[in-house]
Amino acid sequence: AKGMGRNNYQTYVAVPEESHQQRIALETKLRVAERNNELRVYYQPQVDSRTEDIVGMEALIRWEHPELGMISPGFFIPLAEETGLIVSIGEWVLRTACVDTKRWQTRFGLPLRVSVNLSALQLRQPNLADIVRSAVDDSGIDPTLLDLEVTESISVKSIPNLLETLQSLRDLGCRISIDDFGTGQSSLDYIRRFPADKIKIDQVFVRNIGVDPDDEAIVQATISMAHSLKLGVVAEGVEIEEHYTFLRDHGCEELQGYLFCRPLAPVSFENMLAERERL
Ligand code: C2E
Ligand code: CA
Ligand code: CA
Ligand code: CA
Repeated sequence: AKGMGRNNYQTYVAVPEESHQQRIALETKLRVAERNNELRVYYQPQVDSRTEDIVGMEALIRWEHPELGMISPGFFIPLAEETGLIVSIGEWVLRTACVDTKRWQTRFGLPLRVSVNLSALQLRQPNLADIVRSAVDDSGIDPTLLDLEVTESISVKSIPNLLETLQSLRDLGCRISIDDFGTGQSSLDYIRRFPADKIKIDQVFVRNIGVDPDDEAIVQATISMAHSLKLGVVAEGVEIEEHYTFLRDHGCEELQGYLFCRPLAPVSFENMLAERERL
C-alpha cells in the first residue's frame, strides 16, 4: 500500500424514491452527458497479494456533471441499463479502457491487464464478440490482457446463448471473471459450466473478515473451490491490513481496494505508475 496517492471526490447521492418525471429528466441528462463527453473512465489498481505489484486495474465509469460534480455509477448505471443507454456507454468504456491500457503498457513496459464490466444488456448483443474484437484490434492491446467482468447474478436463463457468448469472447483470447461472487444464487454446477477464468470475491464478504467467522469461512471456501476448479481469485473491497493478510494467507492471488488505492482519473493513474517506477 505504498506510493499510490489518494484521490477523494464528492459523490452525488441519489434520492431513493425518484418521481417518474425526475427519472425522465435524468435520462435526458445522461444522453446529453454522453454527447458532451461528461463521462470518464477511472482506474483502480489490482495488486499481486505477495509482491504488492500492480498487475492490472478495473475500469470504472464516472459522470462528471458540470453542476452536480462527480456522479457515481451506482446512481446512473441502473438507469442506463433500463433505457438501453448502457450498450453505447459500455462500448465506449471498453474502447477507452483498451486505448488507455495500451498506452500505459507501452510507456511503462508492463504487461498491465485491464478489467471491464459488461452489463446484461451487452451480453444480449448477438455481435458482442465483434465489438470486443474491434476494440482489441483498434487499440492494439493483447486480448489476453483484457478481462471482462460478468456479474454472478446474471442468469443463463434470462440471456439467450450466454455461455456461447462468453465462450466466443474467450476464443478471442479475452479472460472472463465472475464478478460479485457469492451474492447471486448460482449452484456449484452452474459455476462449473460457466466459461470463466477467475472469480471475484464480493466486498460484502471481505468487509466481514475479522468480524464474522461465517463470512471468513465463505471466503476461505470460495478460494479453495476456485483453485480446485482451476480458476484464479481476486478480492474486492480490501480496506484494511487485516483483510489483506487474511486473503493473502489463504491464497487469494490478487487484491483490489481502498487499502491500496481508490479509483483514479487516467492522469492520476499514469502519474502513480510513473511515481512507482522511480521508487
Ligand atoms: P463493481 O463492479 O463491484 O465495482 C467495485 C466497486 O467497489 C466500485 O464502485 C469501486 O469504486 C468500489 N470499491 C473499490 N474499492 C473499494 C473498497 O475498498 N471499499 C469499498 N467500500 N468500495 C470499494 P463504483 O466505481 O462506484 O462502481 C459501482 C458499480 O457500478 C460497479 O460495481 C459496477 O457494477 C458498476 N459499474 C461501474 N463502471 C461500470 C461500467 O463501465 N459498466 C457497467 N456495466 N457497470 C459499471
Ligand atoms: Ca466489477
Ligand atoms: Ca464487483
Ligand atoms: Ca460489488
